[in-house]
Amino acid sequence: AKEQGQNKYNVYHSGMNIHSYRSFLIQNDLRKAIERDEFYLVYQPRVNLLTGDVTSAEALIRWNHPVWGAIKPEEFIPIAEETGLIIDIDQWVFENVCKQINQWKENELSLQNIRIAINLSAQHFIEKDFLANFINIFNKYKIDSNNIEFEITELVILRNEEAVQQTLQSIKELGIKLSLDDFGTGYSSLTYLRNFPFDSIKIDKSFIDDLPINLNNSKEIIESVIFLANKINMSVIAEGVETIQQLDHLKTIGCEEVQGYIFSPPVQSDQFIQYVKSNERQ
Ligand code: C2E
Ligand code: CA
Ligand code: CA
Ligand code: CA
Repeated sequence: AKEQGQNKYNVYHSGMNIHSYRSFLIQNDLRKAIERDEFYLVYQPRVNLLTGDVTSAEALIRWNHPVWGAIKPEEFIPIAEETGLIIDIDQWVFENVCKQINQWKENELSLQNIRIAINLSAQHFIEKDFLANFINIFNKYKIDSNNIEFEITELVILRNEEAVQQTLQSIKELGIKLSLDDFGTGYSSLTYLRNFPFDSIKIDKSFIDDLPINLNNSKEIIESVIFLANKINMSVIAEGVETIQQLDHLKTIGCEEVQGYIFSPPVQSDQFIQYVKSNERQ
């Protein structure tokens, strides 16, 4: 769905079809969504298969539209990316994750060392003050870099190698972990990744979906990704794991970390705390 929505609709005109009209309205309402407090965050645990612990989670944005109700990120994130609004949105996400981390630090012992992964759109990497803005927020909330991780997609590294590599290096030097999202859906190979300071790669759900019947040799592909990733000191997270069969496959091929509905969907803070606590007791 990321490829969709390349057209820009800045003005409404009568020739628009219903689909582009909705995009037009979404685009307008997105501009106001932050000040109207219509966004909120959900967290999806990642479970370490060796220890059973929740060591990290991914923060995902949700939009509660006053008229349409929940609008999926798959629909509004591409529009936000086209219009540049994604810069403000991701900054909102980062700031609110920082607030949440501080609140957990004060009230929730079990979440003191949790690491929260934030999705960063490729757009940031062409913005000059992107890192400075994030560091400001980071300092404002006195966040420990161990509590933060950034997820970026291959689009970022395919863009402009020099500048991007420098930014990624700076992030790394701040002590923030980096993971490569949606691995396998684009063009990058693991040897190419050696030049970038990633701590982990997230194997895209499309490979996991193929697992039970081993369609397209997905099992072998995932197995060799895990093998090679470990050789270059990166860990692997399997995304979108839904069934016991998939989980069993992943265990046998040595996958360390799993994120998916089998453990928990993305949930709000209260439910997330409950999940982590019930997991600890097992
Ligand atoms: P993503 O970064 O690949 O996030 C993973 C998506 O897979 C999430 O969808 C999550 O709810 C979903 N998922 C996780 N486990 C399962 C599973 O077992 N089965 C199924 N069917 N789905 C699962 P979500 O939250 O709808 O987000 C969709 C995409 O929107 C994200 O894909 C990401 O590209 C974008 N997005 C979401 N939140 C943010 C954000 O705060 N900033 C930016 N820049 N992008 C975001
Ligand atoms: Ca992600
Ligand atoms: Ca992903
Ligand atoms: Ca995705």
